Amino acid sequence: MMSLLVVGTVAFDKIETPFGKTDKILGGAATFIGMAASMLDVKTGIVSVIGDDFPDEHIDLMESKNLDLAGVEKVEGGKTFYWSGRYHNDMNSRDTLVTELNVLENFQPEVPVGWRKPEVLMLGNLHPLVQKSVLNQLEERPKLVILDTMNFWMDLTWDELMDVLKDVDVLTINDEEARQMSKEYSLVKAAKKILEMGPHTLIIKKGEHGALLFHENNVFFAPALPLEDVFDPTGAGDTFAGGFSGFLAKTKNYSFENMKRAIIYGSALASFTVEKFGTDRLAELTDEDLVERLDIFKSLTNFDIELD
Ligand code: AMP
Repeated sequence: MMSLLVVGTVAFDKIETPFGKTDKILGGAATFIGMAASMLDVKTGIVSVIGDDFPDEHIDLMESKNLDLAGVEKVEGGKTFYWSGRYHNDMNSRDTLVTELNVLENFQPEVPVGWRKPEVLMLGNLHPLVQKSVLNQLEERPKLVILDTMNFWMDLTWDELMDVLKDVDVLTINDEEARQMSKEYSLVKAAKKILEMGPHTLIIKKGEHGALLFHENNVFFAPALPLEDVFDPTGAGDTFAGGFSGFLAKTKNYSFENMKRAIIYGSALASFTVEKFGTDRLAELTDEDLVERLDIFKSLTNFDIELD
């Protein structure tokens, strides 16, 4: 059975960019990961938590993408995780204005019975103890375990993060986070150090400058699509992770060569997310859109050179 289990936040996001502001809209790491993975047609289940303030229309949207929400606990009287951020003019960096953990504070995840043998486990950005608990509830080790995290958890839960990191295969983080984690400025040196912390493969996301894939002594680079307007980068990293993990769960091939393809899927999907606020662009995305963009990615990096 092709399947992907995702754990991560399902959230309200309030976003400010040079182009405008939103009210509290649908966001969260698991939301973007799941919606991206749904484009790969792979059976996807989400483990997360929401409050009773979470509107049905958001649930309906996620279910319309065939996401199985049996593992999303709704806490009566609780408030959904809330994050607010403001982007700088270059759109490549942002300040977090608010992080309210709310129902995440006391969250004890429970993996539904039917989801204890997933092919691939995507541990999206969330408390490392929650990530670890999900991993521990599985009846078999998945073929691939991928983890994403951010500075927030490095600052507050470093030891727990280092502990869960020992059990994962692939880590996806952005360049600043890689520097923070390794205390190295050079990303190549950072990668060497991080690959000694547990994962055998590391992906460093560099926003509009693409992504680097490190595995043993191999490095691969996937560009980001040069877009005229980046409207809202929120969720790009998670969308990338959703495309990457979804592609691998679907193809069941965990070689370096196939991971190269997977990061191109991740990059192509992320290039859509940034075109509109929040999940708006992913919500309307068609298979044709994706194929067309994959084709553009192919020509973006394809060249012929004679070496003698
Ligand atoms: P990205 O832009 O891909 O790095 O992720 C943006 C998403 O991460 C937003 O939708 C937020 O709801 C979510 N998020 C922000 N802070 C955290 C956090 N500390 N833990 C988990 N998810 C978060």
